[in-house]
Amino acid sequence: MDLSVVIPVYNEAQSLPELVERLHATLASLQLKYEVIFVDDGSRDSSPKVLRQLAEEYPWIKVILLRRNYGQTSALQTGIQHARGEIVVLMDSDLENDPADIPRLLDKLREGYDVVSGWRQNRWQNQWFTRRLPSMTANMLISRLSGVHLHDYGCTLKAYRREVISSVRLYGRMHRFIPIYAKWEGGRITEIPVSYQPRKYGKSHYGFSRIISVLLDLLLIIFLDRYIQRPMQFFGGVGLVSILLGVFSMGLAIYYKLTGQKDLVQTPLPIFTALFISVGVVLLLNGIIAELLIRVYYEAADRPLVQTRDKLNFETPLPNPS
Ligand code: UDP
Ligand code: MG
Repeated sequence: MDLSVVIPVYNEAQSLPELVERLHATLASLQLKYEVIFVDDGSRDSSPKVLRQLAEEYPWIKVILLRRNYGQTSALQTGIQHARGEIVVLMDSDLENDPADIPRLLDKLREGYDVVSGWRQNRWQNQWFTRRLPSMTANMLISRLSGVHLHDYGCTLKAYRREVISSVRLYGRMHRFIPIYAKWEGGRITEIPVSYQPRKYGKSHYGFSRIISVLLDLLLIIFLDRYIQRPMQFFGGVGLVSILLGVFSMGLAIYYKLTGQKDLVQTPLPIFTALFISVGVVLLLNGIIAELLIRVYYEAADRPLVQTRDKLNFETPLPNPS
């Protein structure tokens, strides 16, 4: 199998026939062995029925029906786990992404990249303040903080080489950060502009609250990016600063008292002392627990600590000692 296209579906019955038609037109012209995996994320409309019909009609369509609505990330993760292709392309099912862009993504991938990200350049032309500005800010923030320089993390349409995506485990709403996971696996990442059409049918499943959830996910990603193999440095660092602040305010309080300027109860310093020192101690202990947890994380599943691109001269068996 050369190519797997993975598509999450939640209440998109109206879009599906046209989507499949366009997929067929593009993929059939590619001279590749391909499959399209639709993951129905517990739709409550007739999407499952439509998907069953389409799967009967086209043998390259594979369908996974989830029992309930788990969210876009879990749907994508399920599809990725079932994908057999050397290249995995993810895209939305609401016709906002165009299958006709897939060949260009593949061409770029063949230039030697592991991830080619779609960039919807012409999006939100008329909604500058409510949509375009928040989206640009979020993307700039993610790009700066993660060191993976893309303009459009939210665009699902991206192509991945199997090696960088097959071991990815996506939790929560983390699908927009797959390129960052790919960077952790040592992947080479680039982007190309892709077309964007606003939804024809139905409406977006997300509202304003997505901004907060993206921010929280970003914090977590940054922490994982920098400290996953040394959490004590993070917790311990913050903890030590806190303890120092506590010791400083204690010193200041005692100084005021001894020089007769202010009594202990006249300043908030004793409260600061207690607060900073206890928070600091708790953070240090957290760091120790985190260190124990990452040992379990890596060793229980036999996860490698590093990703090797290649190994040379390792195939030869060790010489027999006799
Ligand atoms: N989706 C899903 N499960 C959900 C919500 C959305 O599988 O709980 C799918 C949906 O069918 C679509 C894609 O995820 O193919 C993106 O969703 P949507 O268009 O609502 O998001 P937006 O384009 O506004 O980011
Ligand atoms: Mg959409």
